Amino acid sequence: MIFKLFPNCASYIRNFSETGSPLAADIITSFQLWNAKKFDECRAIILLDVMKIPYTQIVKGDIYGSEQTFLDAISSFVTCLQYRHCTGVKCPLPPISNVYPSKDFVIRSPRMLEVIYSGKTSSALCDGCKTPNCETSFNWPTTGCPPFFMYSIAHGTGTTAVEGDVMPKHTIMGKKYSLFAYTVKSGDHFYAVLNYKGKKYVYDGMNADEILSFRSAPPGHKLSTVWCTLDD
Ligand SMILES: [Zn+2]
Repeated sequence: MIFKLFPNCASYIRNFSETGSPLAADIITSFQLWNAKKFDECRAIILLDVMKIPYTQIVKGDIYGSEQTFLDAISSFVTCLQYRHCTGVKCPLPPISNVYPSKDFVIRSPRMLEVIYSGKTSSALCDGCKTPNCETSFNWPTTGCPPFFMYSIAHGTGTTAVEGDVMPKHTIMGKKYSLFAYTVKSGDHFYAVLNYKGKKYVYDGMNADEILSFRSAPPGHKLSTVWCTLDD
């Protein structure tokens, strides 16, 4: 939907495709199939080529955890840099590393996002050598920030992040993003809620004749992922 509704997001993914990203090419092909209402072929590309789920597993209907598998698969679209200043003499971690927010961090609550990606330096026990006061900060790569950003919310025991907890505006490493969509988990079932031009639309499955059914989301369901788009 981000691809369909936001021209800057579509051209961003087209640029990836033009520089030889098979992932971006598969995503573009899947949208062309979707537009042509070839939903089965669209789904096949997403499951087999993008998410790389083995065919035998799909036939069994075992696609548990597939939302995170999808976020992992497309994580290279949204990257940032992690800077680390560790005083440990044998620290195995590099001073600068690439981070894929949708894959590398699962966040307990939307508020945590702005803390992690504040751009400020934080100090903690080093993940690599356990030296105290290892200083880390995040920033966008020199190529700039992406036109969209997505992150995963931890679900499981003790997590209570619900749709009312997600902020309409996010500041991520100094850039303003607006909430576009979130997925909600209800038991074993997931659906997406899109926020577009002041209205909420629930999207629940690719089989529907109508791609978007306009209805309100039931309250209290747990958040699963959040998608934002860059403000102008
Ligand atoms: Zn270290």
